[in-house]
Amino acid sequence: MVRAGAFWWDGGNFFGVVPKTLWGKFQKTDELNRIEVGFNCFVVENGDHRVLIETGLGVRHDERAKERMSLPNPPLIREVVSAHGFEPETIDTVINTHLHWDHVGGNTVDEGWRVVASMPNARYLAQRGELEHGREQHPRDGISYRPVNYDPLLETGQMHLLDGDAEVLPGLRLEVVPGHNRHMMTVTVRSGGKTWCHLADLVQFASSVTPTWVSGFDLFPLEAIDNKARILTQAAREGWWLSFGHDPVVSFAQVETKDGKWRTINNLT
Ligand SMILES: [Zn+2]
Repeated sequence: MVRAGAFWWDGGNFFGVVPKTLWGKFQKTDELNRIEVGFNCFVVENGDHRVLIETGLGVRHDERAKERMSLPNPPLIREVVSAHGFEPETIDTVINTHLHWDHVGGNTVDEGWRVVASMPNARYLAQRGELEHGREQHPRDGISYRPVNYDPLLETGQMHLLDGDAEVLPGLRLEVVPGHNRHMMTVTVRSGGKTWCHLADLVQFASSVTPTWVSGFDLFPLEAIDNKARILTQAAREGWWLSFGHDPVVSFAQVETKDGKWRTINNLT
């Protein structure tokens, strides 16, 4: 896990219709009712390949946005991965679970007047339907899609568009799971009899594993609830390790359900 910084954002946004009296038991808020939100990225390797999942928020934010997010100096993903011992040149695949700015903001970097791939030797994977939706610039979520994060990669042929589920490497699978939006992908890795699933924005925090606790950002909350219940039920039964799109503390956890209640167990920071 390589966490590319954290920012502060309105807590109610992330818990939708759940009242603060409930989610506030799990999330600390500041004086502006904001909670801490991590940018969770991951490196997966198998000896032959090194894969980066998500690239965080990037550095292209004006001063007002940085102040609003309480994030004076957003980190460069190139520096974050290299601080963890992974040189950007050695990453051969980048997975974009979806194209919201907070997941792909580090896809590209400015080099003089050029915009280039932050992982120069990688192919970037994203869903074609997600790109098409981003280009529609719908008033509800158009602001989340910034062409600078993907157009330069499409122009050079570095971004490959997927049409549905895909096996990227043996044991590493991308699955389209509608809910947060139409084409968001989860990433599941199976190795040595164990399963890890990065839930991205289907479950943004360890505290939001209850299937009905869906985010206010979700475009399709009923599908999010159904897909969370389905995936988390399997995860609980089979002892999967899980990770969450934005938990600023919990990197990995398992999940259990008892008497209709859900919670994470064995939380690893
Ligand atoms: Zn997100």
